[in-house]
Amino acid sequence: MSETCAVKKVTEITPEEVARVKEWINSAEYREKNLARTATVINPAHACQPLGAQLVAHGFEGTLPFVHGSQGCASYYRSTLNRHFREPAPAVSDAMTEDGAVFGGQNNLHEGLENAYNLYKPKMMAVFTSCMPEVIGDDLNAFIINARNAGLIPQDFPVPYANTPSFNGTHIHGYDAMLKAIMADLTTDKKVEGKNNGKLNLIPGFDANTGNYREYKRICNEFGIPVTVLADISESFDSPLDGTYRPYPGGTPLAEAADALNAQATISLQEHASKETIKWFSSETEAPVEVMPSPIGIANTDAFLMKLGELFGKPVPASLKDERGRAVDAMTDAHQYLHNKKFAIYGDPDYLAGMISFLLEMGARPYHILCSRGNKKVGKFLQALLDKSPYGEGCQIWINKDLWHLHSLVMTDPVDAMIGDTHGKFVARDADIPLIRVGFPIIDRVNLHRSPYIGYQGAINLLTSIANTFLDIVDRTCEDKHFEMMR
Ligand code: SF4
Repeated sequence: MSETCAVKKVTEITPEEVARVKEWINSAEYREKNLARTATVINPAHACQPLGAQLVAHGFEGTLPFVHGSQGCASYYRSTLNRHFREPAPAVSDAMTEDGAVFGGQNNLHEGLENAYNLYKPKMMAVFTSCMPEVIGDDLNAFIINARNAGLIPQDFPVPYANTPSFNGTHIHGYDAMLKAIMADLTTDKKVEGKNNGKLNLIPGFDANTGNYREYKRICNEFGIPVTVLADISESFDSPLDGTYRPYPGGTPLAEAADALNAQATISLQEHASKETIKWFSSETEAPVEVMPSPIGIANTDAFLMKLGELFGKPVPASLKDERGRAVDAMTDAHQYLHNKKFAIYGDPDYLAGMISFLLEMGARPYHILCSRGNKKVGKFLQALLDKSPYGEGCQIWINKDLWHLHSLVMTDPVDAMIGDTHGKFVARDADIPLIRVGFPIIDRVNLHRSPYIGYQGAINLLTSIANTFLDIVDRTCEDKHFEMMR
């Protein structure tokens, strides 16, 4: 015999109250309260510093990413990369717990380095930190020297390390810190006075689109410019499935990276994700070090190609000129579907800058531009792009706002579509508008990381996906006479 037991709720909420609040959070009154919110962050459009560091580590030959810190944090970076690429993201963690937090993490790091070196036989281990060891002030430099002196790892085994406290930056800062650390380590004593290896060092920045990396290499190949793509994840996260598991596929060859200070030139394509690395390159080499906008859209791609030509004394190849012509033709064919359409976009400053430039070229309006981690300088940098075009008029930049802020913006001042990563899908669903998935992470669609959005081909891919999204809506909602087909 069973007795039913009534549960008395602490707070009774009537269906009417639920409906009232549901409507209220879409109101102008709620928007003002929401936009005034500063103490709490809800669904920010960025990831944490160590995740950026891990992406860099995967981009070097035979490199094992090593998280000094909490196991749970490490699982977050691994699983996010793994879900985005649908590939393994092998990394180790020294799993600091309460005793590490009290006594320091040296024992964890030493045990981890020794085990990982012997078990996984990497060519390099790239160490970076989660928040906990940063809060207690672990001295990575001393810990690693001690590990070498204790014979836990060989004296000459490369173990670059980066401090990546997430309470003070995002994945782009972790990317920058780790890349600089790896380059500084690998190039030690490798610079040869007067040597020019004739190569380009290319820094794509935090970019989780393997297609973009292949596109950069193809463009350089068309020019006949030998290139070292730094932190090249194109194979690491997009290697052939042939039945054999390889823990470290692809990556920038360590010997090539070590020769980077003897290159003819260096180009970074994400200013905000490579500030420290660029500063370091500029101080270590007399060769030109250039920072260019991400080549998203026609103008930015033109600038990139012109710079390649200028630095290497080569004309833009006819094949790329033809490609440009095809991209312009594709834009002309599709412009009426994007013209004057309003978009909400969110993400990192460099990605936003590229996307603004592309949308303005299409006569579209990047109406709400949201960056969850920035400052006034970033705001001015983006505003300068809007000011260049009449379509930028009335568009607004929201710095240090999150995706719940964006919810209020989109519900009270609607747009036609959103462009960004998967985290924006709640807003898109509530506003009943499409989300065109670009960026990181994209965990609810397949293979988009293989489709480049940089360069002329990338511009074609982007506009095709945006225009066809609107055409799908037309097909679902239009009267028969506008259906473009007869039965
Ligand atoms: S923000 Fe800090 S604590 Fe949170 S997952 Fe990232 S590293 Fe770990």
